[in-house]
Amino acid sequence: MSRVILIKYGELTTKKGNRNLFINQLNQNINHKLKHLDLIIIKERGRAFIEFNNPSDLDEIIQQLRQVFGIHAIVIADKVTTDLDIIKSSSLNLMKEKEFKTFKIETKRSNKDFPLKSLEVNKALGSYLLQNIPDINVDVHQPDITLMLEIRKDYSYLYMDEIKGLGGYPVSIQGKGMLMLSGGIDSPVAGFLALKRGIKLECIYFESLPHTSIEARNKVINLIKKLTNYDSNIKLHIIPFTKIQEEIYQKTDAAYSMTIMRRMMYRITEKLALKNNCLVIINGENIGQVASQTLTSLFAINEVTTMPVIRPVSCLDKMEIISLANKIGTYDISILPYEDCCTIFVPKHPVINPRLDKTKELEKRINYQELIKESLDNVITIEVSNHSKEEFPDLL
Ligand code: ATP
Ligand code: MG
Repeated sequence: MSRVILIKYGELTTKKGNRNLFINQLNQNINHKLKHLDLIIIKERGRAFIEFNNPSDLDEIIQQLRQVFGIHAIVIADKVTTDLDIIKSSSLNLMKEKEFKTFKIETKRSNKDFPLKSLEVNKALGSYLLQNIPDINVDVHQPDITLMLEIRKDYSYLYMDEIKGLGGYPVSIQGKGMLMLSGGIDSPVAGFLALKRGIKLECIYFESLPHTSIEARNKVINLIKKLTNYDSNIKLHIIPFTKIQEEIYQKTDAAYSMTIMRRMMYRITEKLALKNNCLVIINGENIGQVASQTLTSLFAINEVTTMPVIRPVSCLDKMEIISLANKIGTYDISILPYEDCCTIFVPKHPVINPRLDKTKELEKRINYQELIKESLDNVITIEVSNHSKEEFPDLL
């Protein structure tokens, strides 16, 4: 008998035609996540098995797997030879480790050559356990514990508890999206949810030095580091945005400055996204949260792009977003006080229902095509990975 980890694929088993693509991507992601450990990953139909040499690695493996999208459940199982007597004695050993009064057995027999059918196995194994453990009963409705048995060709697997995986789709299966990442609470959560759907991320951050600080930039890098728990390498594009912002505030109407600024952000994001083969824009906009996120504002802002814009947190309550931010460890970073370019230039009375025609008129006062080109020419791109502590010594 040896102890192994069994991985159950989630939603992706429903993707009939693309099943192999999904599973290959997931396995690639799992391999990458565990590459620093001494183990082998065996792929079989509907499952992956991880055999590890060092028992003390178990917790680390589980912790890593809990950050992989596409995994439905993680199970610590006993791997035994497919032989009824061995299955019986191993089950007994496993059950003896637990305190319980009632139990049931669930057998899954993917090896159809095994002489007993699933129900017959349940019966044989159940009566063996009843004979050998005192004071226990079978309860098929509400048992204290359920013994799961998977009978495969050469080996079978016994286990009781499942650890819930993240679900979703394996990252990268959907291609890339460009995440507009500020230092706030919402956009990192939006990024996490996009990763959950299998989208690989690149990030864009608009920076207004010297109005914003290097600490604000580091904050964004630290947020990405948290996201690299779910996608090992994420590119960050830092866009110098000072000139555009200054022009907007000098030459247009204060009430409309936020609307115009966000249109500029979208324009730049679209261009950068196309250049980097991203198919969608992702951001942390949340309906009604601030003046620039009313439906009228979104309508006026979104008008500058034909690219799909995904807003994963658009319909969540702030408390729901905060709860997710806490779960993924971004909240404590997001609430650090460094201001970003939006908060620095925020007008006292931004228009809540901007008119598109007026927005366009005002915009004509600035030579934005030129400024956008200049910003994009001066982009700084860095790659953030979950092993990149050395490159950014002042990070977490
Ligand atoms: P967040 O909490 O994510 O900062 P927010 O509630 O503060 O969002 P806004 O500041 O209006 O809302 O920004 C809405 C969205 O626009 C952000 O979620 C983010 O996706 C994007 N955004 C805002 N500022 C920046 C920036 N400096 N760089 C990149 N994207 C930004
Ligand atoms: Mg913000």
